[in-house]
Amino acid sequence: MDHFLYQGGALYAEDVPLAEIAASVGTPFYCYSTATLERHFKLVDEALAGMDHLVCYAMKAASNIAILKVLADLGAGMDVVSGGEYLRAKAAGVSGDRIVFSGVGKTAAEMRLALEGGVRQFNVESEPEMEVLNRVALELGTVAPITVRVNPDVDAKTHAKIATGKSENKFGIPIAKAREVYAHAARLPGLRVVGIDVHIGSQLTDLEPFRQAYRKVAELCDLLRADGHEIIRLDLGGGLGIPYERSNAAPPLPLDYGVMIREELGHLGCEIEIEPGRLIAGNAGVMVTQVLYVKQGEGRDFLIVDGAMNDLIRPAMYDAHHDIVPVIEPVPGTENRVYDVVGPVCETGDTFARQRAMPPVQAGDLIAFRSAGAYGAVMASEYNTRPLIPEVLVRGDQFAVIRRRPTFDEMINRDTIPQWL
Ligand SMILES: *Cc1c(COP(=O)(O)O)cnc(C)c1O
Repeated sequence: MDHFLYQGGALYAEDVPLAEIAASVGTPFYCYSTATLERHFKLVDEALAGMDHLVCYAMKAASNIAILKVLADLGAGMDVVSGGEYLRAKAAGVSGDRIVFSGVGKTAAEMRLALEGGVRQFNVESEPEMEVLNRVALELGTVAPITVRVNPDVDAKTHAKIATGKSENKFGIPIAKAREVYAHAARLPGLRVVGIDVHIGSQLTDLEPFRQAYRKVAELCDLLRADGHEIIRLDLGGGLGIPYERSNAAPPLPLDYGVMIREELGHLGCEIEIEPGRLIAGNAGVMVTQVLYVKQGEGRDFLIVDGAMNDLIRPAMYDAHHDIVPVIEPVPGTENRVYDVVGPVCETGDTFARQRAMPPVQAGDLIAFRSAGAYGAVMASEYNTRPLIPEVLVRGDQFAVIRRRPTFDEMINRDTIPQWL
């Protein structure tokens, strides 16, 4: 459930008409709903009630510091995958002991940053990384808390580009090698093993792959404890999917996910961390864009809009579906028309939807791409020298620009012409 609903014939974000925001900031723009972010966070947090746990929001999904602050104020920790994200989490007021550092290619500089600023744990993904972290920690005269990310070799049954838990993926260490790797970690004085980490992919719509992975983690936990390691924490990653198509069957509920976690891992007495990103931010954001032209093609009508693949790349990159709705509510009984919805970028890949049945719209109308809150703004680029589009946060009847649109001067002045030219 989200808070983007029609009221009196117009699409609102909570109590603010999207058309009012468009008039104020121009199009295209991203708009997030505070109430939806809060609702999703609480659903996930409550799903783990009764277990010692921390929900570490995977901020790569949507990393504006205003969004981070909304979640941190509810008690969220953060899962970061770069030094930049670490600094964003800090800028949002998150304390180091609530920040988990993930990622397959952390640099020594990033490790130093997090060790100096405070970190809950590093989720280490290889033995070479372990060696570097050990060295950095010793240089700083400290000890780095770690989990090792294991690759359980399960099929997440999701899009190939976002599956991470098969043995052919670059992530984690093979679970069969885990005892060896933990023994190695225990010999390094700059590291302190605190737990096990696993993350098998994104947009999972079935609990079974999670269950398989967590069962393997439980077995490993027993083995590692028998080997003398102190396993006090299990980081179970993110990945629970969201409904992108309202007409499709809904993915599992957070509550059922929580029940499954309790069933598979509850007996171990570990602190549980989960790292949801999409689940919290995905349906808490829309991208609003204006129809520039309705172009009659050979046998098809193109809706050319002012948003493009550089603003929202998911359809081009993952063949993703976003529901598209007009900002003015169609009168009941309006017959759908079929459009190809495309942006202005000079690539055929700049197509949001092919042969999409939707209410008829005209040049000048506003339309909203739903479920654009996660992996939307964060993946935007300035391709075609198109400015990064603004982000707006709504709360009740208020809205605020949380990242403004840059000017063309700002964009162009980042380039420099060498003195020999
Ligand atoms: C991307 C990622 C997540 C979040 O995935 P979602 O599908 O957005 O929940 C969590 N943990 C790690 C390590 C990731 O790489």
